[in-house]
Amino acid sequence: MKNDLDLIPLNNWQIFPDMQRPYLIAGPCSAESYEQLYSTAVELKKGGLSLLRAGVWKPRTSPDSFEGMGEEALEWLKEIKVKLDLKICTEVANAKHIESALNAGLDLLWIGARTSSNPFMMQDIADCLQGVDIPVLVKNPINQELALWEGALKRLNRAGIRKLGVIHRGFSTMEKIRYRNLPAWHIAIELKSKYPNIPIFADPSHIAGKRELIADLSQKALDLGFEGLMVESHISPSTALSDAQQQLTPGSLYSLLNTLIVRETGTKDLEYISNIDELRNQIDVIDSELLRILHSRMDISREIGRYKKKYNISIVQADRWENLLEKILIDGRKMDLSDKFLEKLFNIIHQESIDAQNDVLSKSEVD
Ligand code: PEP
Ligand code: MN
Repeated sequence: MKNDLDLIPLNNWQIFPDMQRPYLIAGPCSAESYEQLYSTAVELKKGGLSLLRAGVWKPRTSPDSFEGMGEEALEWLKEIKVKLDLKICTEVANAKHIESALNAGLDLLWIGARTSSNPFMMQDIADCLQGVDIPVLVKNPINQELALWEGALKRLNRAGIRKLGVIHRGFSTMEKIRYRNLPAWHIAIELKSKYPNIPIFADPSHIAGKRELIADLSQKALDLGFEGLMVESHISPSTALSDAQQQLTPGSLYSLLNTLIVRETGTKDLEYISNIDELRNQIDVIDSELLRILHSRMDISREIGRYKKKYNISIVQADRWENLLEKILIDGRKMDLSDKFLEKLFNIIHQESIDAQNDVLSKSEVD
């Protein structure tokens, strides 16, 4: 099975004329009215924007939410494209959307997270785009599954889409986190390592869910070598019909962008990800995720301890530990992790779990 993507480099997409990093895609979550879209676009253009985003069809959890203005909004985009000399893009999720978007002269399409999660929808979209020369960006699927994201890319690529990129917008999680969507940077990095030529954008707006967190997330993306940012911007965020909390006025978007440090690549070649600083950044991110995972594991261990206490069960169950370790070693070998390393690591983790359960057992709980 072919495990590569046949890609046209971003500098040949004719979308970002000055090729200034970070490549910016900005605009409102949704196109709500001509006036809202036009006034936002005018301000964004003043700051140098070349690619305007606006949701025309909005995939919303509830049918009672604002679901976008549809075809009418395409007319506004078309008009603004000409008036302000901007490129325009929107999210598409089915054949009907694609047909309308292509007729309206959209310059780029993106696939939303709920759509990239569904292989049937992705195949329909790919079939529909067969033979069409248009750049497509694919957001990560809602669940943390790299193979699903890759699958979506392969379907489009096999249909002839070679101007292909990705957008990391975070993943759904049951965990309590400060963000709207969990930024699993390591998954985006793994994708980039497998396909070094694929342009990668971050969508800090949908990761954050709140304006205040967008700056740090944008910097993190640049630190990791992301080429671009897709940021939601609205002329009057507080009155937005969707995602009001996470949109920035064009003015605050540009102030934020001015604070960002663009890491030098030293070369125009995407090879820069192998640069030592960036690798260290990646390690830092992975380490902090490791810590978070260890924290969750210890919480569960203590919970198990409480059950064992309640049902008067001994803490150490040798057969459970043996089976667990055996499974870890088998899985680890498939990932090139040595038995010696995993035995050492998991013995320490196991011992810490036993200690935590012992603490639970010896503590007299007042309830
Ligand atoms: C959007 O970009 O407006 C959007 C709906 O994004 P996502 O697919 O990331 O939820
Ligand atoms: Mn949105």
